Amino acid sequence: MGGSIAHADPAADWPATMLALDAQFDIGGPDGERAVAASDFFVDLFITDLQPGEVLTGIRIATPPENSGGAYVKMRQSASGFALAGVAAQVTLDDAGNCASVAVGVTGVAPAAYRAHAVEDALVGQGIDAVAADGVEEFQEDHHASGDYRAHLARVFTQRALSQAIERAA
Ligand SMILES: Cc1cc2nc3c(=O)[nH]c(=O)nc-3n(C[C@H](O)[C@H](O)[C@H](O)COP(=O)(O)OP(=O)(O)OC[C@H]3O[C@@H](n4cnc5c(N)ncnc54)[C@H](O)[C@@H]3O)c2cc1C
Repeated sequence: MGGSIAHADPAADWPATMLALDAQFDIGGPDGERAVAASDFFVDLFITDLQPGEVLTGIRIATPPENSGGAYVKMRQSASGFALAGVAAQVTLDDAGNCASVAVGVTGVAPAAYRAHAVEDALVGQGIDAVAADGVEEFQEDHHASGDYRAHLARVFTQRALSQAIERAA
């Protein structure tokens, strides 16, 4: 996990799940110890918040409350298994079965894994029907998949991850 997270390949699986689980990363280096939220860690293409001389020394994930569920789904690049689009969703339901909290991490789509805040905000207090695409400015584009296709996959897999997470939470 540490190697994958520190490497920050834009199509790696762990970053999306770490974002959805709101993980905290412990970092050690010449200037001592510090902690960084996953949402502040993945900066750009293969670039993290790690500074020269620093290493990732720990990963903290809070135990989810009752009525929580999570899921990670992806479209695989057929040779490597890397994500053309991968979405991790973590959901906690309220007594009415609506979303009390939602966290969505997306990988494979943009230069760095990101939290889909617009989707999260749209869903809090609601059921699954409100899912929308998020405001990514730059979609990854290469010989495996166009930016448009990755954007489409991000929407489809966000819906699938959220459906599965909500089913598990219930
Ligand atoms: C054929 C193939 C298919 C793959 N498919 C997938 C896939 O489907 N999904 C996926 O997510 N990944 C995939 N990978 C990537 C693979 O999982 C990575 O090699 C792995 O994620 C990196 O972890 P590692 O432990 O090997 O890291 P390493 O190779 O040991 O490290 C990666 C980099 O991070 C640095 N590093 C390691 N640990 C730390 C640390 N604690 N703090 C700071 N820096 C550190 C290293 O110096 C190095 O620069 C694939 C790789 C290959 C070759």
